[in-house]
Amino acid sequence: MKIARFDGGHIGVVRDETVYDVSAACGVEPGEWPPVGMVRIIAAWETLKPKIEAAVASATGKPLASVTLETPDPWPNKLLALPSNFHDHHEEMRGRSYAIPGGVTADNAGFFMKANSSMIGAGGAIELPADKLDREFHHECEMAIIIGKPGRHITVERALDHVFGYACLIDVTMRGKEERVMRKSYETFCPVGPWITTADEVGDPFGINMKLWVNGELRQHSTPAKMIVGIREAIAMSSAVTRLESGDIIASGTMAGVGPIKPGDEVTIEIDRVGRMSLPVVAV
Ligand code: MN
Repeated sequence: MKIARFDGGHIGVVRDETVYDVSAACGVEPGEWPPVGMVRIIAAWETLKPKIEAAVASATGKPLASVTLETPDPWPNKLLALPSNFHDHHEEMRGRSYAIPGGVTADNAGFFMKANSSMIGAGGAIELPADKLDREFHHECEMAIIIGKPGRHITVERALDHVFGYACLIDVTMRGKEERVMRKSYETFCPVGPWITTADEVGDPFGINMKLWVNGELRQHSTPAKMIVGIREAIAMSSAVTRLESGDIIASGTMAGVGPIKPGDEVTIEIDRVGRMSLPVVAV
């Protein structure tokens, strides 16, 4: 199932270019504050799924193109991210002025965090800070792994049982020497969407293509199979430190091909069986 948020916090199921509003069936009041509806849906998924299916069957859908898609899971307990988690990206960063001295990879550096408030949806725009346009801003093509069943000390063997679904994620980054968490936490620096595709619909996640284009030119392409710390290992590593809650997001890390974005560009990300979205880059 593809579960979206749209038009001010409505919850929708996306099928055949149509959105079916299932907010009422999920007990979510659009516009609620804080916007924790998706976290509650994920936590109660087994109970809610048949109600959602019934609501879709009786709902009149709206054309997908007529709604504004928002980030599906805007208020997770935490947004974890893996640094330098593909060998080809680690190699391309070596020696660059903004590379972390010593060259960390996710298997020895662990995870970092992005501010939850950096997330935006497919209908948003990546806003570069207008007073920092002399700096270099990069696109990073990543996959969001969204946790379903919570847990601590989750084993590699059981890790996929804890995945609710997947989404596309762009880890927008200002290069430089400031703390990574700050450079990556500007508002709009984490497009996540266009919706959550549940794990059962994605199937085997390891071989799927992750691709990113800037202005129609393919810049990044890899698969989760090439992650240094894999999907299962990332869940085990994270949950050894912190309890993973329903709705928590882990960003996969990016592959080679990162590069600058500037106002006027359009960035497109696509992951097989998950989704595709394009966002403009502006200066604000
Ligand atoms: Mn990244």
